[in-house]
Amino acid sequence: MAGKLIVFEGIDGSGKSTQVDLLFQQIGSRVDKSKTFSSTGLGSRVEVILKDLKPTREVEALLFAAARLHTYKKVIKPNLNIGTNVICDRYLMDAFAYSCNSITRVLEGFVMNINSDYRKPDITFLLDIDPEVSLDRIQGTKDHYEKVDFLRSVREKYLELTEPDPDDWSDYFKGQNWVILDGSKPVNVIQSLVWEEVQKIL
Ligand code: ADP
Repeated sequence: MAGKLIVFEGIDGSGKSTQVDLLFQQIGSRVDKSKTFSSTGLGSRVEVILKDLKPTREVEALLFAAARLHTYKKVIKPNLNIGTNVICDRYLMDAFAYSCNSITRVLEGFVMNINSDYRKPDITFLLDIDPEVSLDRIQGTKDHYEKVDFLRSVREKYLELTEPDPDDWSDYFKGQNWVILDGSKPVNVIQSLVWEEVQKIL
């Protein structure tokens, strides 16, 4: 039987990697974790390219798509295929939240085309949080992606994605199995809520 795919999404500093690590320990066996943009060397190289060359938003989306696909093919899919559960720190919806928000405005159709053929998650946790709070947590590491206004529009887009248009002809955004959690709650409170939901699908 294929492994379960458990995804954490949310803006920078929302607590994703903290919860991924805790859940990883809690599940204990037959589980792997993956950071879409740093589990393989490609994602970190893409970040260097983006900083150096500052390409257009479309090119940026293409480079992120390349890193995502690489991690999917190398880490996520093979693990799922052998029955290992995979916990992902970002997966697919971040592509739209970061590239198709009210500031970046890349067309959703473009981002869909370059991010096709991904398995739907069994559950997607959105750690929803005010960027002012998340930025306070990660002060000192602020960069272009971590400015309040930008993260505000990423947050808005994430929330929009959790309510896909019922009349949309494609089922691309449907079936993500979102669970929205208040990311400003204490770590252990979020951890318990996550565990409650994960137990239902394991
Ligand atoms: P992300 O992976 O979403 O960028 P992290 O898990 O790295 O976020 O968390 C960013 C910072 O906030 C870390 O210093 C972490 O210890 C802290 N943190 C994570 N979750 C919480 C929480 N619920 N409350 C307070 N601080 C938190």
